[in-house]
Amino acid sequence: MDISGFMVRFASEEACEDHLIKLRWKEGFRCPKCDSDQFTLVRANHFKKCSISSSTFSM
Ligand SMILES: [Zn+2]
Repeated sequence: MDISGFMVRFASEEACEDHLIKLRWKEGFRCPKCDSDQFTLVRANHFKKCSISSSTFSM
């Protein structure tokens, strides 16, 4: 078992998921948790906050 290989694979999967979320949000935000398209921007922290589930997402 190569622990360093595992760490690299984990990091790349995280990056891939992040990339997919950004691509999706180009066409409009959808909350991954409740599928709502209603949100408020929290500009000071560059966050979006879902109006339904109150989940927050970094931009
Ligand atoms: Zn939500």
